[in-house]
Amino acid sequence: MRLIFHGPPGVGKGTQAGRISLEENINHISSGDLLRVAVDAKTEIGLKAKKYIENGLLVPDELIVNIVADKINSAECEKGFILDGFPRNLSQARVLDSTLEKAGKKIDRVFSFTASEEVIITRISGRRICKSCGAHYHEIFSSPLKENTCDKCGSELFQRKDDYPETIKVRLKVYKEQTETLIDYYNKKGILVEINCNGDKKEIQENILAGLQSMSEGKRDME
Ligand code: ATP
Ligand code: MG
Repeated sequence: MRLIFHGPPGVGKGTQAGRISLEENINHISSGDLLRVAVDAKTEIGLKAKKYIENGLLVPDELIVNIVADKINSAECEKGFILDGFPRNLSQARVLDSTLEKAGKKIDRVFSFTASEEVIITRISGRRICKSCGAHYHEIFSSPLKENTCDKCGSELFQRKDDYPETIKVRLKVYKEQTETLIDYYNKKGILVEINCNGDKKEIQENILAGLQSMSEGKRDME
């Protein structure tokens, strides 16, 4: 099973992709996480990508497409994958198409996650992450037991620089200008499923489950 989780920043793609990848035993490929690892490790790509990420802009395609293509072609993605945060524009979508075509593979479904701007801003601005183990918290929805301290390892929590209010606005603008158009691109291919993410985690999970079910029913119909 090969899926794309598409949607604006903060809509909850990453949280849901993490969960479904475990349940379905497929790989979770988050382009944002791959880039943040490169930034922390101060690799050549990481050093170049840092300023774009912190300012809420897309990194240039050449910094990300090869990393993602290598992942897709790796043994760990043999059983399938969820792409989270990639593709982010039309040229990335075309690179993805040709990478998959060369390998004789294709995307089964694109889940398009939607939520109101108000919900998105509340989700992103409350997000806090553990400095040491990377666990995620939210000031309102899943606050730690002790303020600013990770329940799992006791380390301090931090806020991503690109989660600051001014930068969230830039990210939403970039999404509208460059990424939203992919909804149309995948809709025309007939593989788009819309997932409403305005509700709580449980409702969102149910909506995804319905999407996955419609997928297996679709396959049965074709047999
Ligand atoms: P969230 O993690 O809050 O859902 P997001 O999806 O915008 O939001 P990430 O996917 O983690 O966040 O991406 C963070 C940043 O990494 C982006 O703003 C961008 O700078 C860079 N980035 C991630 N994926 C890509 C990509 N496919 N192309 C270009 N830049 C990317
Ligand atoms: Mg994300």
